Parts: sequence; C-alpha cells; structure tokens
Amino acid sequence: MLTTELDEFIVRMPKVELHIHLEGAIAPRTLLELAHQNGVEIPARDVAGVEQLLRYRNFNEFITVFMTMARVIVRGEDFARLAYELGIDLATQQVRYAEVMISPMQHMRRGMDLYEAISGAAEGFAQVQRETGTQIRIALDHGRQYGPDMAWQVLDVARKARPLGVVGWSIGGNEIGFPPEPFAEVFNAARAAGLGLMAHAGEVVGPESVWGAIESLGVSRLGHGIRSVDDPRLLVVLAQRGVVLDVCPSSNLRTGAVASWEAHPLRKLYDAGVLVTINSDDPTFFNTTITEEYRRSVTHFGFGADELSAMARNAARSAFLPPVERAALCAQVDAGIAALRHELGV
Ligand SMILES: [Zn+2]
Repeated sequence: MLTTELDEFIVRMPKVELHIHLEGAIAPRTLLELAHQNGVEIPARDVAGVEQLLRYRNFNEFITVFMTMARVIVRGEDFARLAYELGIDLATQQVRYAEVMISPMQHMRRGMDLYEAISGAAEGFAQVQRETGTQIRIALDHGRQYGPDMAWQVLDVARKARPLGVVGWSIGGNEIGFPPEPFAEVFNAARAAGLGLMAHAGEVVGPESVWGAIESLGVSRLGHGIRSVDDPRLLVVLAQRGVVLDVCPSSNLRTGAVASWEAHPLRKLYDAGVLVTINSDDPTFFNTTITEEYRRSVTHFGFGADELSAMARNAARSAFLPPVERAALCAQVDAGIAALRHELGV
C-alpha cells in the first residue's frame, strides 16, 4: 500500500534511470517551440494538440508519432536544450545517475551530423552535472529496422564520441521481423570499443528474442525483456547470469505490449530472482516519470521499501560506468537509501 511515508520515500530516494530516450522525453512546450523555430510542420498547434497526438493506440502508431516528433530536433543546440531540460527534471526527482538513449537513425536519415547531436546532448548533460551533481551518460540505440550496415556507421561515430560520455550501445525500434542475430558482429565491435551492451528485446516478441540478445549479442542488460516470463528456463538463465531487465511498466501498458496492469509480469520476474530495474522509457509519450513508475510499482505490484530499494540498487550496480565510478555511485545510493529509511521508518 502506498502510505504517506512510502510515497515520501519514493519521492526522496536516490534513483538511477537506465532506460530513457532523449527524444521521448521532450516537453510538449519545447517540442512546439523547436518546431516553430526550425520551421518544421507538425500535426499539432498547441500543448493540447501535442497531447492529442500522443493518444496512439498501439506500438506501430507509437513509433510513427515518435518519428514525427523527432524531426523537430535539428541542431546541436536543440539537443543541448533537450538534454539540459531532461537532466534538470531527473535531478529534481533525485536521480543521481542516468543513461539516456539517442536514436541515431532518426536524425542521420534527415542529414543531421550524429556527432554534432551527441556533442550537443553532452553539453546539456555537463551543465546539469555542474549545477546539480547528477551524472548523465549517453547510449546510442540503433533502430534494428535500419539493419546492421547502418549500425556500423553509427558505431563509428559512437567510438569517436566516447570521450563525450557515450557509454552504451543498444538496438531498439521494430522488434517484429528484425531479430537480434544479424547484429552479433556489430555488438562484438561495440564491446571491443569499451561500450556497455544492451538490447530492446522481449517487449513485443517472445522469449526467442531475449535468447538471441543474450546468446548472440552478449548483452548484460535488456530493455523490457518482460516476455521472458513465458519461458521458465530463460528465467533461470537470466537470474544465474545476472542479466538485468530494465522494465518500464507504463510504457508496456501504453504501447499495448501488455494488456493490463494485472497481466504485467514485473512481479513474477522479480519473484523468479531476475534482476529488474524501474524506468520511464519515454516520459512524454507515456505521461509518466521514474518517480511515478516507482509509485505504480507499489500500487499495482505490491512492492514495499525493501523491494524498491533493491531495484534502485540493481540499477546502480549495472550502470555502464568504469568500476571505480560505479562503486562510488552504489555507495551513494546505498547510503542515501539507508539514511532515508531510518528517517522515515520505512
Ligand atoms: Zn526503450
């Protein structure tokens, strides 16, 4: 039950967000301003219009809206603005560390220079760190429908951009019809370049997609991974290997990946001993925040302070940071949680 104390704990607890897309976090007002400033036509005139657009009914409609919206982001400075606004929002929610994904093809296929986009985002995040102490790193999330050849081009930029804070490499986009296996070599190269590996998998496709991601790509984290629940052997393997599922409950409801809160497998995954984390995915599109996702984990799955703390710790422990920095983050999160639980008696 979401008591007043537990709610305060959720609001104030130090958090780590590992699954969030920069383009999906754009504030409706910023979206309108950028569209106007950059002369990009979008099918909305005001905030209410943007909200109307966000009422898509399924995963395909969601991807279409996402792609339409991404067009308003044109210059490096637009990325800096988005990054700064998102970072401040996360810092306000007591997020101490986040990995934010950029969808390279959304911008490259419009002729944007990906390095300029990443530099802009890095600048915005650096300013957030100076002002709040919250650290934000970048992951590139390649749309699988664009294939492995394009992925190599993206990876080239990722390698050059590592000093700007690019720490993660991922595939996302259309899971149906685009299995993980053809990306195996790209992932090997990404690993050799020192990038942390993850993949959106088991979101709308079943366990075979997750098997592919862990066996062929060797990822240590999965975006969603919720369909793993359909394969008991897979659950055992995930738990044994410590593969982390970055779960985004409201996203799954809004895209129709899961039919209802009752049907969402988060509790089953947790109870099977799989390491899970709580994330917002695309806060603007799904009308949520990481804080709200923690709240919903209490109201819909019955988690208490122990479990919420464990999920926040899982996130800190699986951050794609160098070991010394990761250890410092874990210590900070652990100490913050312990102090808060003591203070609030939860
Ligand atoms: Zn995602």
